[in-house]
Amino acid sequence: MSSTLQHYQEFPVFKPLVDSHRRSVNYARIAVTSQCNLRCSYCLSEEHEKENGPSSTLKTADIGRIIEVLAGLGIEKIRFTGGEPLLRRDIVELVRHAKNTPGIRKVTMTSNGVLLDRYLQRLASAGLDSLNISIDTLDSERYRKITRRNEFERVKANISRLLEMHSMETKLNVVMMRGINSDEIRQFVELTRENNVTVRFLELQPFDDHQIWRTGKFLSAEKIMEMLMDLYPDLEKTEGSATEFFGFNHPECKGSVAIIPAFTRNFCNQCNRIRITSDGKVISCLYDKHGFDLLPALQTGSKREALEKIFRDAVARKPEDGKHASGNSFRSSMSEIGG
Ligand code: SAM
Repeated sequence: MSSTLQHYQEFPVFKPLVDSHRRSVNYARIAVTSQCNLRCSYCLSEEHEKENGPSSTLKTADIGRIIEVLAGLGIEKIRFTGGEPLLRRDIVELVRHAKNTPGIRKVTMTSNGVLLDRYLQRLASAGLDSLNISIDTLDSERYRKITRRNEFERVKANISRLLEMHSMETKLNVVMMRGINSDEIRQFVELTRENNVTVRFLELQPFDDHQIWRTGKFLSAEKIMEMLMDLYPDLEKTEGSATEFFGFNHPECKGSVAIIPAFTRNFCNQCNRIRITSDGKVISCLYDKHGFDLLPALQTGSKREALEKIFRDAVARKPEDGKHASGNSFRSSMSEIGG
């Protein structure tokens, strides 16, 4: 396939992104589309696309340009997310471009895994380092209820394919919801026994069209940890990363377990990331509604410096933590900004 992406031959003076709270920003999540092929009840309404218009205004070349400018600012890790990133036909090209951009060390993706059979080999060849697959239940009927689509068997087979490859770091994202899947902790942890996979239990966030958030389904990271420890008293706490605040290994398991305390926001002081929305806005905090628009600069072919300034302005406004974000706003769906 002939590539529409080219690397720009410019040589910027390196000044990394550091916010006003002295946090270095070296990780960017790019929502490459707001479209999704599932309708998870805690995320999207059935009518989502009709209401939200075109899936993305960022073109292939725009995303390529964004990645290069970010790399020049010290961004080392890119995550492609959405919406569902595998709905973009140019996704392999985007991964390859990111991987070949000097300065980018790690290219990752978050996907629901439905279309993975179509793309897995090509993503691996393009250099994708790591893949997070979202799956909230191991029961097909529950899966249909949560996602409002009948794709469980396909996703399950795709996860097996991915694990059999042994070459790509794999994580499973499980949003924990009281009374919906909270009785499946053991089944998920058991997947780590024979597989080199990290199972990550996520706190529910207040970003959903239906506000199931308000219906008592929330389970705090502390509560999830308590449930996990009751089931597996031998779990050993590990260092964890900036996102996996609580990480655990079990002496008998090849993989590991992590808890992501998203809503309780008790690890904002380690936050190293910015987000680019599918309509081209830079967001410096999941809870901050104020975005910095890249589109005018991209569409008029502005110089690198103009784009750099937008990123620097966004990082300068990064709030100390999610509780101090502008308006402390809740969004109608994670698909707008990428989870
Ligand atoms: N379509 C891809 C997927 O399903 O992984 C990527 C986008 S999705 C918005 C990214 C992650 O955000 C998924 O793991 C999803 O479960 C999570 N997510 C979406 N809405 C959420 C919410 N209200 N609370 C917690 N996590 C949520």
